Amino acid sequence: MSDFDAIVVGAGPAGSAAALELARAGRSVCLLERGPTPGSKNMYGGVVYGRILDTLVPGWWEQMPVQRWVTRRSTMLIHDDRALTVDFRHPGWGAAPFNGATTFRPDFDAWLAGLAVDAGASLVCSTTATGLIREGGRVVGVRTDRPDGDLRAPVVIACDGVNSFLAKEAGMYPHTDAANFTVGVKETISLPREVIDERFGVRGEEGVDIEILGCTGDVPGGGFVYTNATSVAVGLVLSLPALAAGGDRPEELLRRLKAHPAIAPLVEGGEVLEYSAHVIPEAGYEMMPELVGDGILVAGDAAAMCLAAGIWLEGVNFAIGSGAAAGRAAAQCIARNDTSAAALAAYRRALESSFVLADHRKLRAAPHLVMGDLAQRGLPAVACGVMEDLFTVRNPEPKPGVRRIVRTQMRRHGVRARDAVREGLRALRAFG
Ligand SMILES: Cc1cc2nc3c(=O)[nH]c(=O)nc-3n(C[C@H](O)[C@H](O)[C@H](O)COP(=O)(O)OP(=O)(O)OC[C@H]3O[C@@H](n4cnc5c(N)ncnc54)[C@H](O)[C@@H]3O)c2cc1C
Repeated sequence: MSDFDAIVVGAGPAGSAAALELARAGRSVCLLERGPTPGSKNMYGGVVYGRILDTLVPGWWEQMPVQRWVTRRSTMLIHDDRALTVDFRHPGWGAAPFNGATTFRPDFDAWLAGLAVDAGASLVCSTTATGLIREGGRVVGVRTDRPDGDLRAPVVIACDGVNSFLAKEAGMYPHTDAANFTVGVKETISLPREVIDERFGVRGEEGVDIEILGCTGDVPGGGFVYTNATSVAVGLVLSLPALAAGGDRPEELLRRLKAHPAIAPLVEGGEVLEYSAHVIPEAGYEMMPELVGDGILVAGDAAAMCLAAGIWLEGVNFAIGSGAAAGRAAAQCIARNDTSAAALAAYRRALESSFVLADHRKLRAAPHLVMGDLAQRGLPAVACGVMEDLFTVRNPEPKPGVRRIVRTQMRRHGVRARDAVREGLRALRAFG
């Protein structure tokens, strides 16, 4: 006897999108969240890319809780005290239908979960799913930490985030390799709105997203700076095995980033409101588990669907895309009274024909490339060196030719031409 048609574990973006689609299809769905409210346990950098909401929540921008609309995206390469930035501005992104917005997770997650509840989902917070209930080799529900808290349903959707215990218990992760994970650390620094506007060159509700390479010392990774209404988020994403192997601590690397001449003027005088950290499934497609089992689907970070490909760090839209697809597939299978793995495989097929797996498959080599030595060290050092040589006026010496500058910088930083060409070709293939 089932308590619900479906149980969704985790009220992050993936879980709430799944519950929303199930409830809209008229299915009874329990959305379990271990935190006291959706979003209370969650952290991220700060930007949600909203296109995925167009069909799910038409006109979403009129109701989603937003800090700022991102109208400026920069990619910064740092070497020593120098920085080279490619800065793209698009005022059109500050008007409907918008592109991306900074938003706080407690606000965003609570909003999305609220839509699922309004559609009829039962949200149960402060409740942890502690394991799966299985019968005859298939999943038939979850155990929870509440007294008499077992819940039964023909389908469970595991949206319990990175390190999904449920997907592991179901045997869907063949092996776990620490090299597939990074840890993200972030400080939220309070500053008056007009100070942020002036320092970042924006006004009104406009906001900025800066992605940074070359700011993580000996630890492969990257950095970011995002503007909220009256605070700035500064963070790092760091390779887990490199951190574990010793060397610099995340907070020390973050301190150094904040002290860098390109970043310090943006955050100085601000008060640190919050320090947070969270693991990221960095390797994407290469680490994805089985997505479908008998009576179970896995979505969002639980299925390693965060896209961490250097210039892109997108997880929330991938979580919503996969969660919604899981909810729709589950609803159809429940209606047909068949939630076997074969029937639920419609979920995988839906993802294959959507951006979720298309982007991941196309960019499968990108995370590895971005964490490689050339992208981490060679590229920022050579790029900053070339800029320095180009723009340093050495009169009475004549200007050196660009080719000589590039060759000199590559030699100085130990980048061999054939390695650069090989990695360049790999990058073209990975991002092409
Ligand atoms: C430092 C950092 C920066 C990032 N920056 C960005 C960014 O700017 N933009 C972007 O799009 N993405 C970003 N991401 C990625 C993004 O945060 C994730 O991809 C996204 O949150 C995944 O959503 P999810 O719903 O799958 O998982 P989560 O958001 O992790 O939600 C999982 C939920 O499940 C709950 N839960 C877990 N286990 C249980 C259990 N056993 N029982 C009940 N509930 C449970 C958790 O409390 C949580 O609410 C960033 C991540 C990090 C760490």
